[in-house]
Amino acid sequence: GSLPGWEEVDRLVVEAHRDALETHEGEVATYIPRLASVDPELFGVSVAEVDGAVHTAGDAHATFSIQSISKAFVYALVCEELGHDTVRERIGVNNTGLAFNSVMAIELNDGHPMNPMVNAGAIATTALVPARSTDERWERIQRGLSAFAGRRLELDGEVYTSEADTNQRNRAIGILLQAYGRIDADPLAAVDVYTRQCSLLVSATDLAVMGATLADGGVNPVTGERVVAASVARDTLAVLASTGLYERSGEWLFEIGLPGKSGVAGGIVTVSPGKGGIGVFSPRLDRVGNSVRGQRATRFLSRSLGLDVFASD
Ligand code: GLU
Repeated sequence: GSLPGWEEVDRLVVEAHRDALETHEGEVATYIPRLASVDPELFGVSVAEVDGAVHTAGDAHATFSIQSISKAFVYALVCEELGHDTVRERIGVNNTGLAFNSVMAIELNDGHPMNPMVNAGAIATTALVPARSTDERWERIQRGLSAFAGRRLELDGEVYTSEADTNQRNRAIGILLQAYGRIDADPLAAVDVYTRQCSLLVSATDLAVMGATLADGGVNPVTGERVVAASVARDTLAVLASTGLYERSGEWLFEIGLPGKSGVAGGIVTVSPGKGGIGVFSPRLDRVGNSVRGQRATRFLSRSLGLDVFASD
């Protein structure tokens, strides 16, 4: 089936927002110092349909840094360039069961980055973006993520500087990958581009459109631009299903039944293949790094819109 009519979706988006406003649980991320100063009450919900219709509630146009959600879209761009088999072999598709910035996960797996949604795999993925220079690599990523969103995404310089000054751990991961021969490009340059991609500013509505582009087989439903092949959109969603919400990826799939990706600034993108994308933003996070209100609003929408891919009724 498809989504309910326009007015019904519009009403449910407003209701999902109102329902999740009830919770004040969770804590804003502070390990990137600049993230600690966000207004914790900001809360936006957006749904973009594959026909291009967009529904919003609350602060759906407030911008925040995309953080780890960038991993999903850079992965798609690299799959588009290098193909299914190469990326599967170089990056992997299995859940680590450990924190996103775990060094132990690398050590336990002979230096293999394991999957593109943890930092090791994401840094290795960024290093695979074909380019002659670091600047060109960054430009391709910025252009590619902008194509998913349907507008030019800009860097938040303060978030970038704040993370670049405090990301010793990610630099260590980059160098560890190099020691294992898992990264060919300069690892610190790759970490820098990764830090920039994480600092791109998006809104809940941008995330909904980016998700709808994956839902629509790689074609942005608002601009009509083909960003990646349908097979690439499919592969990206398959990876997200098992790895998109940190150590709670299993609980997420169990409750929501859709592929999604969260980031520590409080965004979550969720994709209903063939139907549309859901974008949410609320900065208070659970213990592993997922937006509390964002999860609740997405669960509300998955259920009320009948999106769970495992449900037969
Ligand atoms: N840039 C952040 C980091 O590498 C992203 C974290 C996240 O959103 O999971 O720590």
